[in-house]
Amino acid sequence: MSELDLHRLGLGTWQNTDPEQCAESVKTALELGYRNIDTAQAYENEEAVGHGIAEADVPREEVFLATKVDTANLAHDDVLATAEESLERLGVDYLDLLYVHWPTEAYDPEGTLSAFQQLYDEGAIRHIGVSNFEPRHLDEAREVLDAPVFANQVEMHPYLQQAELREYAREHGHTVVAYSPLARTEMLDDPVLQDIAEKHDATVPQVTLAWFLSLDNVAAIPKATGAEHIRDNWGAYDVDLDDEDLDRIADLDRGHREIDFEGAPWDE
Ligand code: NAP
Repeated sequence: MSELDLHRLGLGTWQNTDPEQCAESVKTALELGYRNIDTAQAYENEEAVGHGIAEADVPREEVFLATKVDTANLAHDDVLATAEESLERLGVDYLDLLYVHWPTEAYDPEGTLSAFQQLYDEGAIRHIGVSNFEPRHLDEAREVLDAPVFANQVEMHPYLQQAELREYAREHGHTVVAYSPLARTEMLDDPVLQDIAEKHDATVPQVTLAWFLSLDNVAAIPKATGAEHIRDNWGAYDVDLDDEDLDRIADLDRGHREIDFEGAPWDE
């Protein structure tokens, strides 16, 4: 069982850039029971995330903390130098998970991943993750690394269910971490999810996140800023979807992406 099975719902922090607000979001989440926090060098909030962790009444070793190396920093020596800077900004002496943010720009499988392997061997990072990787990038990464790939973080929600990447993850023993799990709020307007939410006297985010909890080796990291959304999302654990609900949600898959651009890894 992966450690992420214990932390299936985490907190995303992209665009939570006001330092006080961001620290407060992280502290609130940890004190409500969240233990999985996701940030990135590119989000420019690692220091605030670190403050939130320090201020929460939760020991560091109970928190599963992930950050990502920015695409500009993926040359071997830059990975080593900027991972050190991330540790300093976050105020921690190890990371639970360090991701390659995208297989683009300065990404070079040998150079980049040998630096990740070195950080892993030195104990600075407990797990190696990748993000926005397609099967061909995963094949290559698994070949280069001695350590296992622990997680592939990709966009996933009911409109983009990622069957192929989930199957790949199942075969190779890593977790799919779902980003934009609420499709950046688009899920809120979905009539099927609204109907299921009404049936369970729940909210649409809760139903959406409960769907993730019904899947194997998948974790989700909704971003929520204020206590109301953070608490609402945590309520997903109390929603018990039945087979009919799950079938209806399975039917919503339509290959829709919130985050897409020319030259994206899935385009090549
Ligand atoms: P998301 O989690 O699907 O949606 C976030 C939006 O939903 C925010 O506007 C948030 O509002 C709102 N929201 C959250 N809970 C809500 C609730 N209970 N009721 C109503 N609205 C609610 O989108 P995301 O931020 O794109 O993705 C989540 C995380 O994934 C990011 O924060 C980041 O950590 C990660 N991510 C990674 C990548 C990558 O390339 N690896 C790309 C994108 C995202 P408030 O903020 O006002 O609460």
